[in-house]
Amino acid sequence: SDKPRQDFDVIVVGGGPAGATVSAAVALHGHRVLLVEKETFPRYQIGESLLPSTVHGVCRILGVEDEVAKAGFTPKRGGTFRWGRNRDPWQFSFALSPRLADPTSFAYQVERSRFDAILLDHARRVGVEVREGCRVTDVIADEQRVRGVRWVGPGGEIREAGARYVVDASGNGSRIHPHVGGKRTYSDFFRNIAVFGYFAGGARLPAPNAGNIFCAAFEEGWIWYIPLRDDLTSVGAVVARENAEAIQRDPVTAWRGLIDACPEVRGLLDGVPQATEPPYDRVRVRKDWSYWKSRLWRPGMVLVGDAACFVDPVLSSGVHLATYGGLLAARSINGGLTGLLPEDRLFAEFETRYRREYGLFHEFLVSFYDLHQDERSYFWQARKVTDVGTTELEAFVELVGGLASGDTSLGGAGPAGARLSAVADDFERAVRRLPDVGDLRNPLYESESFRRVFQEGTVMQERGLFGGPLEPETPLRPGGLVASDDGLAWVEPGR
Ligand code: FAD
Repeated sequence: SDKPRQDFDVIVVGGGPAGATVSAAVALHGHRVLLVEKETFPRYQIGESLLPSTVHGVCRILGVEDEVAKAGFTPKRGGTFRWGRNRDPWQFSFALSPRLADPTSFAYQVERSRFDAILLDHARRVGVEVREGCRVTDVIADEQRVRGVRWVGPGGEIREAGARYVVDASGNGSRIHPHVGGKRTYSDFFRNIAVFGYFAGGARLPAPNAGNIFCAAFEEGWIWYIPLRDDLTSVGAVVARENAEAIQRDPVTAWRGLIDACPEVRGLLDGVPQATEPPYDRVRVRKDWSYWKSRLWRPGMVLVGDAACFVDPVLSSGVHLATYGGLLAARSINGGLTGLLPEDRLFAEFETRYRREYGLFHEFLVSFYDLHQDERSYFWQARKVTDVGTTELEAFVELVGGLASGDTSLGGAGPAGARLSAVADDFERAVRRLPDVGDLRNPLYESESFRRVFQEGTVMQERGLFGGPLEPETPLRPGGLVASDDGLAWVEPGR
């Protein structure tokens, strides 16, 4: 063909948190990386509430932590929930102990347009060739492997580039993910719709929780309330998909109506006008369905971030999974480019760990929804552990194997269902103990499922802070690999 062609070690499709992370982490090992992004940054994105592992783990490993710290984002100590049996809001704090000051037990609430631009600029600075305004239309592959991509440039010109690895980090709307593992598997349990917009201010929770995300369950579903700046609050409602048509017809009225139906949030917004500055002047609607894939890689291609999987946003796990998955993929790619370990072993490590992390959040989120009781509500009645269907349970067992539950004997939907109920009971007990926060220890950490869901994030943070985990890492499974000292590659354990 007469199309101009260029070759790279790695081509990354999409410049969100997943793409910026994987591209920077590969460039830091001296490889040639091209990142192709459809839009021109800064661009709008939803997903504003972060977890500590992204900030103190991944961002530190990449060397962008100071930049993020200087941006002036709202510090987030945890979440406040009006959720469960108790009418009073309760806190879910990142700190192991509510009284001890731990310098890394916070995250940020971010304007994604600014946060994502910081990560992408950093990738550029460490050597990634970033081309914005370029849309990837297809991948180039033969029987053996994926070998490159085709894209359309800003002037409509068609281009091709070849690479040893192509990373799909093009998010929820990815067109190329079916090249790995075919169609997505959609959850039946988490199929909601979200309608969201912004207010030019709003009351804040009492100190020290003013920066917390506030999530309030109400009859129709739940609402997030995220303090982005003193004069900017993100407010979104997550409701049953049966409301989709009415919401699409008139998003603003639907959004206002849902806020009015939730007294806890309505009260915080009394007399506060809707934001008028772009891009916050619009009310947006998004399908909020959870999904995963049967495979996350094939020779020459890897999926990360929303291109790979997505799980309900109530625990703010999206950007964590995107940056964590991006880092795992970079470790495998860096190894594959050096050729010191076999490719299938390197990518099996990526896939096992990523699935496990996704599975833990998925499992925990089912029990989190189960916590809320509302006998009159269609939404909440349909979101009980006992309502998780057999098909979904089977898919779920396949997805995470025994790993998510720590029980390798999990063989079918029956035991998985029992396991989910046990997780839900365990978490509910911990939440019931929360009113005695006089304790030195945060009672949520007495819940095994709660601890497990944040365990990998903690290891990631220790790596960022101390240059390695506090205890030598053990492989996740026999024959498994562990992270190198710089956190950017896989090595044999004990090396
Ligand atoms: P994205 O951020 O979507 O980035 C993908 C990039 O790829 C985009 O910049 C896009 O322009 C580009 N792209 C797409 N197609 C192409 C193409 N063909 N060629 C080139 N480039 C392309 N997460 C949280 O952490 N906290 C939250 O509070 C939270 N709330 C959420 C609320 C809702 C209602 C929803 C739906 C999600 C929420 N999330 C949240 C999830 C979060 O939005 C995502 O998980 C996160 O943005 C994923 O990052 P990513 O890098 O994978 O994808």
